[in-house]
Amino acid sequence: MRRYRLVINLLILLAFLSGVSLISGKIYEGFKEGSRAPALPQPAAAGPVPGAGGNGEAVQVTNGSPNGLPAAGGVQAGNSLEAGNGPSPTGLRPNELGKVMILEYHLIGDKEDRWERRYDNFRQDLERLYREGYRLISLVDYLENNIRVPAGYTPVILTFDDGSRGQFNFLEKDGQLVVDPKSAVGILLDFAKEHPDFGTAATFYTLFPPFGQPKYWKEKVRFLVEHGMDIGNHTLSHSNLGKLSPAEIAREVGGPVKLLKEVLPTYEVKTLALPYGLLPKDDSAIRAGTYAGVPYRNLAILLVGAEPARSVNDRLFNPYRLPRVQAISSELDRWLGYFARHPEERYVSDGDPSVITIPEKLKGQLNAAATAGKTVQTYR
Ligand SMILES: [Zn+2]
Repeated sequence: MRRYRLVINLLILLAFLSGVSLISGKIYEGFKEGSRAPALPQPAAAGPVPGAGGNGEAVQVTNGSPNGLPAAGGVQAGNSLEAGNGPSPTGLRPNELGKVMILEYHLIGDKEDRWERRYDNFRQDLERLYREGYRLISLVDYLENNIRVPAGYTPVILTFDDGSRGQFNFLEKDGQLVVDPKSAVGILLDFAKEHPDFGTAATFYTLFPPFGQPKYWKEKVRFLVEHGMDIGNHTLSHSNLGKLSPAEIAREVGGPVKLLKEVLPTYEVKTLALPYGLLPKDDSAIRAGTYAGVPYRNLAILLVGAEPARSVNDRLFNPYRLPRVQAISSELDRWLGYFARHPEERYVSDGDPSVITIPEKLKGQLNAAATAGKTVQTYR
């Protein structure tokens, strides 16, 4: 009965925090309390990034074109930028202390809802990100400070929670399995065919068996890893880790790692997205442990909400409390609009992972450990 009361309380909390939180009777994530960013003014309609086309101010960096940025609307040698893609953020100065959006998708399907993104809207999200100067990177590259996007561009990270069929569906065609072009993985791969410089990096925080077709789950996780995508940890049974003992946590966190090891023996699951965004006071059993003889270690713990994440170069960066941006219309408009109005706050790459370029005035914000072995470059 205590469990029943807990569920009721949780439902009330979720309803209060996020309006409608139930889809088909299943509970999806609610916001972590206190993690909501302050309300921002409504953004103007999406448009070219401010400064697009070059502002003519010199930036002293060591690589790329004379001012370190690709020529406006042009092609820079050494990367796959396409000419004539319309507005590009070539006027943005590098700022590798800026914020990075880790987008959080749940259901991908036929309707638009609090925890669901319609297929065509997902495709439009990719188009908008591309148009506004964002390029995909993997979560692990972000955590390891190995961001490889061309100079002047902003990295963005895709995450998908709960592993539903709309995220990744197989069709059976003439005895062969093919990726359903309608599902998120199909949309992502198709988009990257047309825009190879956008990338396909994404992390899927699945439950088990994932993606709604139990008989194909092993083929699916193999496919994702073979195509450079990642599987993340979302616990064995979508449990509230805040309520479990260390031994129970080890089972919930170690369980998926053990299952995946049987299919992908050399693949390392490196990050965990918290179900409901809830965690115990002492999270050491989530960070690392051993379950049934299989060790696990998480480089990062991802929250449910609700704002862009700090750069790894930021001294306040905390990989064990990584915020994400909910990938629904209102939040995407809010944050893409915010960065369009405040381009100085977004992470903008200098194009070279071994060099960290930042505005001089932000020098005090640097995390010396994160930039060890790299060249730090400042500009006024
Ligand atoms: Zn979940």
